[in-house]
Amino acid sequence: MNTTTNQIHNLNAGPSILPKEVFEEASRAILDFNNTGLSILEIGHRTKLFQDVMDEVIGLTKELMALDADHEVLFLHGGASTQFFQVPMNLLDDTASAAYTDTGVWAVKAAKEAKLYGKVDIVCSSKEANYTYLPKQFEVAPNSAYLHLTTNNTIYGTQWQDLSLFYNKGVPLVADMSSDILSRQVDFNQYDLIYAGAQKNVGAAGVNIIVINKRCLGKVSRQIPTMMDYRNHIEAGSLLNTPPVFAIYVCLLTLRWLKSIGGVPEVEKRNNQKADLFYTTLDSLPLFKGTVAKEDRSKMNACFVMENAALEKEFLTLCQQEGMIGVKGHRSVGGFRASMYNALPLESVAAFTDLMKHFAQTKS
Ligand SMILES: *Cc1c(COP(=O)(O)O)cnc(C)c1O
Repeated sequence: MNTTTNQIHNLNAGPSILPKEVFEEASRAILDFNNTGLSILEIGHRTKLFQDVMDEVIGLTKELMALDADHEVLFLHGGASTQFFQVPMNLLDDTASAAYTDTGVWAVKAAKEAKLYGKVDIVCSSKEANYTYLPKQFEVAPNSAYLHLTTNNTIYGTQWQDLSLFYNKGVPLVADMSSDILSRQVDFNQYDLIYAGAQKNVGAAGVNIIVINKRCLGKVSRQIPTMMDYRNHIEAGSLLNTPPVFAIYVCLLTLRWLKSIGGVPEVEKRNNQKADLFYTTLDSLPLFKGTVAKEDRSKMNACFVMENAALEKEFLTLCQQEGMIGVKGHRSVGGFRASMYNALPLESVAAFTDLMKHFAQTKS
């Protein structure tokens, strides 16, 4: 426990912080959902009670993302990793080729699964630089089944700032938005398929949000297992089998919160403030070093190191003492990672940057 205050600052990369009111409301619903005398954990998924949850969560997603009528919203089991193969299973024929951008661990995993279903064309890569920048020069073959990108590279701390680079390439666009969905204003209608594990910005682990343009389906010749075919889920309104009821309910609460604060424009403003404070501090302290190209810095996951490994250990211990949770970097990058998802308050970033300043002072 920290010595000065008892406050915890949750900078976890995922699962990660959600708004306090979401935790409170979710815990009330476990005991008594909407004054029914029933727990949210024991209601039938075919009841009106749950249908109302489903209708509202889908409606709110469409509203917050400003989706047009061609785009459907699904809440499906499995993490984003399930989408790594479900996407090509539905969109990539055996003999066809899909274009993938190679920008980090998750992008690599997505491409690896796609190879099980067809050909994969890696159109750009920053692997040779340990993914410390985003490769912006790429060509997409016009007959590609789709173009796949990872909008925010959670582990390396890079984020595509100009997504229009990917628009109007003449092929369907598919994005893994697991770690930055609904964190900034994006023209979501540009995408034929968006997928995101909920546990970073939207809710509890165990469910994916999928946004899909119906028009890109039904074009592959393979047989698709019932549970893997998006068309069946669209038809069943995400109720093909028992959905992850509680995880979906937590998404609903988080989306209600997002709407209540002013939606995506407001949360983007807050995320920009947090990222500005963090990176300005980082750049002012020679003791710490950002690991990625400045123009590609992620507003969700900030990665940094220190030159001296012994000092890194000391700073990590200090973080633990001061209630800074989840700041150890991923093993493939080392150092530190501060995740600043939607629900993280500016005060937590201020507390963390104060600690960095304090530590730097004691070492100068
Ligand atoms: C966390 C993450 C994943 C993996 O999500 P799971 O739900 O654990 O499968 C995939 N892509 C990105 C960008 C992520 O941040």
